[in-house]
Amino acid sequence: MMRHSIVARPVRQILRGALLLCIALAPSYAATNYTISLANSEQHLVDVQILLPEGSAQRELQLPVWNALYQVRDFAQYVNWVRAKDRAGKVLSVRVLDKSRWQIAGAQGGAEVEYQIFVDSPGPFGAQFNGHHAFFNLAQLLMYPVDARNEPMVVRFSHVPEGWHVATPLTSMPEGRFGADNYDRLVDSPVEISMFKESDFDEGGGRYRVIVDAEVADYHMGKIDGMLRKIVAAATSWMDDRPFENYMFLYHFPRGPAGGGMEHAYSTAIAVSAEVLARAPDVLASVTAHEFFHLWNVKRIRPQTLEPVDYSRQNPTRALWFSEGVTNTVADIMLVRAGLIGEDAYLRHISAEITELQQRPAHTWQSAEDSSLDAWFEGDAFYRTPERSISYYNKGDILGVLLDLRIRESTSGKKSLRDLFQWMNDHYARQHRFFPDSEGVQLAAETTTGQSFTDFFRDYVAGVKEIPYNEFFQFAGLQLITKTVEVATPGFTTTANLGGQPEVSHVDGNSEAQHAGIAAGDRITAVNGAPADAFLDDELSRMRPGSTVRLQIENRKGRREVTLHLGAGEEQIYELQDLPVVTVEQRAHRAAWIRGDDELGGAP
Ligand SMILES: [Zn+2]
Repeated sequence: MMRHSIVARPVRQILRGALLLCIALAPSYAATNYTISLANSEQHLVDVQILLPEGSAQRELQLPVWNALYQVRDFAQYVNWVRAKDRAGKVLSVRVLDKSRWQIAGAQGGAEVEYQIFVDSPGPFGAQFNGHHAFFNLAQLLMYPVDARNEPMVVRFSHVPEGWHVATPLTSMPEGRFGADNYDRLVDSPVEISMFKESDFDEGGGRYRVIVDAEVADYHMGKIDGMLRKIVAAATSWMDDRPFENYMFLYHFPRGPAGGGMEHAYSTAIAVSAEVLARAPDVLASVTAHEFFHLWNVKRIRPQTLEPVDYSRQNPTRALWFSEGVTNTVADIMLVRAGLIGEDAYLRHISAEITELQQRPAHTWQSAEDSSLDAWFEGDAFYRTPERSISYYNKGDILGVLLDLRIRESTSGKKSLRDLFQWMNDHYARQHRFFPDSEGVQLAAETTTGQSFTDFFRDYVAGVKEIPYNEFFQFAGLQLITKTVEVATPGFTTTANLGGQPEVSHVDGNSEAQHAGIAAGDRITAVNGAPADAFLDDELSRMRPGSTVRLQIENRKGRREVTLHLGAGEEQIYELQDLPVVTVEQRAHRAAWIRGDDELGGAP
């Protein structure tokens, strides 16, 4: 999952390097200097000091209300107090302008602003400081001077516990400081401070650093490196591009519920629970391929509606079906190219995505674009119910597959989704331009093929017309069939916020679950003694109808245990199968499609 700054290009990088060097050598009057003090891990309190350079007398400081995750989280709720003084130590007045903005008066000669903030939210989108580690999404704790957001920023960490080290994609500077060209870059750089383990490797001219903060018994660094080499080689060769020198993978494998990934321009932070890692190691490769491809799609091939980022309120965009969903499509192609999954798994994955979309009643009234606009509701359990919403990850993933097939069909296999992405990379990212949401994707498809995609975008992207799947899949010799299967039903369904615990979204009327008092909004924390995760519904549906499950449930009233008998139900699922007759040509199309290759000159 997973989600967001500005394009950096080789020439600009060189200029930036020179700029940072100047900052390093001269006293940094022009830069905003932050000191983050790690003095109080027990209470999860971080002290922040901001040195503002000389400037206008009245300065405003803004703490973002959101970052990374498309949810307003109002980080200011965790700020304990704010104080300011001038360079001579005279107290300056601090006035609250709104819940996330402060005004400092008398700062013309520079100012020293201090505040304390509570940070204890786990996961790759959060900021957490405890006796074990500090992990920072810096937007969650650093206010920015509104008039200097685009100026250089320097950050240092003080009172770092003994034995802990700092890992971050930020530029290293002398005296343990780190620099960024502007605030957006600063907060696009996660920071891990702990006794992490690390590894690194070169691949195709790029340097990769791997940071793991987890119990050593829970993972194997050599296996992770091996997987990463395959993924980065597959993705950089598919894009024919490597817009960075250094890239960092930052992993957490906590014991207990966790999950999710956060993309950045030069790094990614990923959390997978140790239990899931042990049970389904493929999850790690899948999240990693998704987040790595984001370094192009969304970080550099970036929708106009996300720029400039508005940190003071939500930033609606119609493009998440493409930026997130089609990132899923490509991630699967990368896994095939990397040799980490086979063709069957690729097709099974598409079938499962189609089943998911078709089973949600909301697919008949919420479009992929509307679902993108409504991303800001995703923190809410009611919004995530099948009656209320579809997921732009899910429909976008399918749209990516269909777009790929339509491009191939209209060019007899000579062009593909790969050409669309390379065109968008050349035409937008490398030109430092943002793309105009769905219209930009449509333009890319039409330029790639020389044919109109008006109907496709009107009906399936902006619209909710039922998708005639077989019209797309026949090109690859496939058909979509429906099947009725028996499943176990617990009498309720759950949804999980990114990486969180499953939360009950719907309870069937007159079911055992309803009689047991299970209600929408309850969190399921454990199933038969094991921690529950986002895959709970699948897990329960695969159990034997009639068997009993022990659920641990938490809500506002407390925690309790409930034992339920699973009922039996039927479910309609979709499956991709061979057409009765598959031609040699169709086989060749299928092989090229699944591998993400163009068919040159029509040869298989
Ligand atoms: Zn994502």
